[in-house]
Amino acid sequence: MVLSAGVEPLEKFMTIRTRFAPSPTGYLHIGGVRTALFSWLYARKHGGSFVLRIEDTDLERSTAESVNAILEGMTWLGLEYDEGPFSQMERLERYQEVIQQLLDTGNAYRCYCSRERLEILRAKQMARKEKPRYDGCCRDSQDAPPEDTSPVIRFRNPQEGGVIVDDLVRGRVVFSNSELDDLIIARSDGTPTYNLSVVVDDLDMGITHVIRGDDHLNNTPRQLNILTALGAKPPVYSHVPMILGEDGGRLSKRHGAVSVMQYHQEGYLPEALLNYLVRLGWSYGDQEIFSIDEMIKYFDIKDVNHSASTFNAGKLLWLNQHYIKTLPPERIAHLLSWHLGKLNIDPSMGPPLEEVVKAQQERAKTLVEMAESSVFFYRDFESYEESAAKKHLRPVASEALQRISTILADLDAWTPENLHQVVLDVAASLDIKMGKVAQPLRVALCGRAASPGIDVTLYLVGKAACIRRLDKALVYIKQRAEAA
Ligand code: GLU
Repeated sequence: MVLSAGVEPLEKFMTIRTRFAPSPTGYLHIGGVRTALFSWLYARKHGGSFVLRIEDTDLERSTAESVNAILEGMTWLGLEYDEGPFSQMERLERYQEVIQQLLDTGNAYRCYCSRERLEILRAKQMARKEKPRYDGCCRDSQDAPPEDTSPVIRFRNPQEGGVIVDDLVRGRVVFSNSELDDLIIARSDGTPTYNLSVVVDDLDMGITHVIRGDDHLNNTPRQLNILTALGAKPPVYSHVPMILGEDGGRLSKRHGAVSVMQYHQEGYLPEALLNYLVRLGWSYGDQEIFSIDEMIKYFDIKDVNHSASTFNAGKLLWLNQHYIKTLPPERIAHLLSWHLGKLNIDPSMGPPLEEVVKAQQERAKTLVEMAESSVFFYRDFESYEESAAKKHLRPVASEALQRISTILADLDAWTPENLHQVVLDVAASLDIKMGKVAQPLRVALCGRAASPGIDVTLYLVGKAACIRRLDKALVYIKQRAEAA
């Protein structure tokens, strides 16, 4: 018998249901997010549902912290799920029921083989250079079960024929049943193994399309055989290739396979990360920039490349800068306030955040950079950047700074236009170039030689702080002259 999975259903006639099924054994990392994104997009594209399922039956490795990290990451990225999160640990009874059903129908059997026996079997197979596999010892055994031994339960895998997977990414992949042994579906303590719980869940949750990492491709024929034994219609499978580091190795921490929340902390935008990940192994003409709506419109799992993709940190940074420049200021302001909070700044105690964003949008690659270079808008700095002070806060600048301070004290209409005029007027009155006024002024106000345009900088720093900082700079110059 040859089974065929993935005979593609007509999407328009069915409700598409996809899922993301992480094991909570670590961070939510880049590879996981890409799988989640593809599943999410596929569901959204077809007006279907996206289910989040936490595969937490490995009690030794699963942690509540990791579950939280997954939920936090999904929320930050805006990958909202329609159902779940479901915990497999809460479905143990259901798995027992299905295991019993498989036993009752003769599709599963109890295996009493001791660990020692299995180890010897394995060693012999390895010595013969054979693939280690269970030899079916208990499959048809009529012997009385040994006492005091809790058996495992194995699936009675068909021995003849094969399994065809018509994978939407990989194309047709054929497995021979002779390659598959009778896998354990329940451990001796009765808990289900991965392949059993996945099958039951995909079935019960009505999953129509399984999109997952291609490290699971070898599990698919096993899962299909179990589904068939249960008389179920299989979902369509898509196995997404892995992501490689820039040196061609498996993506590791060193390459950026860190928690997705680390990207958050480093000032990346969800828009940039999602755009970056959607293009990793998928393309639409030569378009690079995709809004979420465009991704939903154009994405198709069938167009995902079946070879591995390489992570490119530079491109991600480029996209991040693009989104910082082009997203509406209110969106950036919303994201930036978190980063300012990290620097102990309450953004409501200072200039309007959106104005700060507008002044900085062209100047930052990350939100961390933007936050750090905006601190002076909200609080006085402790010290001057040494080289900037050395170069610009010199006695020759005193007169200009003094004049500006005096004019600002009397300026009623605090607008960028008026402030620009003040700087122009002072430069003209001293017969010097505007830069000779603006640079010392900038260092006096910001503590450093780089800031947005001097008019906007004055405007956002505000009158009281401008005068306070100008006075401080004048004292600094004086002291410096005296010390010389
Ligand atoms: N829990 C599995 C993992 O995190 C995914 C299983 C699946 O998608 O079928 O690798």
